[in-house]
Amino acid sequence: MNKKIKKYVLDTSAILSGKPIDLGEAEIVTTSRVSDELSPGGRDYQNFQYLREKGLVVLSPDKDAVDEVQKISNTTGDKNRLSKTDIEVLALALELKKHKNFEIIILTDDYSIQNVANTLNLKFEAINQVGITKRFKWGCRCRGCGKKFKDSIKICPICGTETRNIVSNKKVINNRSDKE
Ligand SMILES: [Zn+2]
Repeated sequence: MNKKIKKYVLDTSAILSGKPIDLGEAEIVTTSRVSDELSPGGRDYQNFQYLREKGLVVLSPDKDAVDEVQKISNTTGDKNRLSKTDIEVLALALELKKHKNFEIIILTDDYSIQNVANTLNLKFEAINQVGITKRFKWGCRCRGCGKKFKDSIKICPICGTETRNIVSNKKVINNRSDKE
């Protein structure tokens, strides 16, 4: 009965991938610096909002964890390749891993993050490795009458109410075997 709670820590690349990340039961977290990098209104921000609706939690790591990651990245030679955001992502993963009941996995395509994660005994997965099984398209829906539109329409032409962005179309991607 001691099942660990799986938590994925997303870096910026995971959010900017624009992929609907379907991690099943796992919880998803990221750092406040990642969300700060996204400008409101843009497509990336929409992806971020979508993930927020799916339960993405934004946290800030402790200074101790940040210091430890900086120290390690110095020894691996990754320090100059890591942004402050990257370091926060690693630090957050490191901090969360201290909870015995959590299984922590960093979701990133960044080789330097992967490298430092490996050195810190943190698990990571590349974005294409995880259960991304659906592509999606944005559309919008009227807040009033509920009519859906494929295009981005601000005001519903039927009832004149403002619309909101929604995921309008999900397409299941066939699982190809990736043998080369
Ligand atoms: Zn309407």
